[in-house]
Amino acid sequence: MKFSKKALSTLGIILAVAAFLVSADLANAAEKKVKWKLAMTWGTNLSPFTDGVANMAKMVETMSDGNFTIRIDSSNKHKSPFGVLDMVKLGQYDMGHSASYYWKGKDLALLPLTTMPFGMTAPEQYSWFYHGGGMALMQKAYAKHNVLSFPGGNTGAQMGGWFAKEINSLEDLKGLKMRIPGFAGEVLANLGLTVTNIAVGELYMALERGTIDALEWVGPGMDIKMGFHKIAPYYYTGWHEPATELQFLVNQKKFNTLSDKNKKILTVAMKLAAYDMYIQNYHMSSVAWSQIEKDFPNIKVRTFPKEVMDAMKAENKKLLAEKTQTNPMLKEILDSQQGYSKQAREWTKISDYSYLRDNI
Ligand code: CA
Repeated sequence: MKFSKKALSTLGIILAVAAFLVSADLANAAEKKVKWKLAMTWGTNLSPFTDGVANMAKMVETMSDGNFTIRIDSSNKHKSPFGVLDMVKLGQYDMGHSASYYWKGKDLALLPLTTMPFGMTAPEQYSWFYHGGGMALMQKAYAKHNVLSFPGGNTGAQMGGWFAKEINSLEDLKGLKMRIPGFAGEVLANLGLTVTNIAVGELYMALERGTIDALEWVGPGMDIKMGFHKIAPYYYTGWHEPATELQFLVNQKKFNTLSDKNKKILTVAMKLAAYDMYIQNYHMSSVAWSQIEKDFPNIKVRTFPKEVMDAMKAENKKLLAEKTQTNPMLKEILDSQQGYSKQAREWTKISDYSYLRDNI
């Protein structure tokens, strides 16, 4: 049997394509069955935090044609809400979802990767993360834990909290018992408050019984389900958590075992889920606030008097100066944030701030 040159070259092309398809199929097969586990700090159904995590996992599954799946364990299952960093570090979980300021006692340098009192707003902070060197600093800070960290959704500006009584002076703060975590808790403790940490499920009862006089949680969208507006009439505006960013944590070694395609899929899904959580939170708060205003007209929104705000700012500055002295990583992150914020704030002033000031 004789073949023309043309027929032979066509046959060659067909064989080459077939070989490529087989190898592509093998590559696909190799990608199959990536099954990860994620531990969240949160219990089940804590919208929008848990929605964001579920969205991320769903996107990963869809984009990978079902080859890469992530099982989500809430704290009801793993029983260790504040053990997420350790569990991801040790590889007991491939991934986690939490907030960097929960590791304050373990590694203080991680704290400002969530938010800082009097720090940046969410758009400013996202600019810092993605375009101002924040991501590189975050990976540097987490490297010693063998963990990668990615922005995991933002609450936006949080409210300063629910207070049983009005705060008219610095004196009114003294002796007040308040639940407020993070760096802000230390600031207030130095101003004479008794800062307590009470399990989330017991907060309502503690406020109702007067075990505490005040507490902060998040904002209307998440506060409304807790019912605080029924028992504390003063709702203060925020200063302590202007842009609380949550975090996806990924075990560094496990991330390295992923194909380039799965790495890309995971990274894109985390970024999109984070953005979506931020806007879901905004939406939930606007809906919840209009509901509270309508049903509870006795609620009074207040801003801390200038005397109190100035004292909080001064105490915050003093504490930061103390802590950065012995912690070069913390100093590097705070210097970067403060430098970036100075520039970004000038733009915020003549854009969003001016617009709102002149149109409300
Ligand atoms: Ca809070």
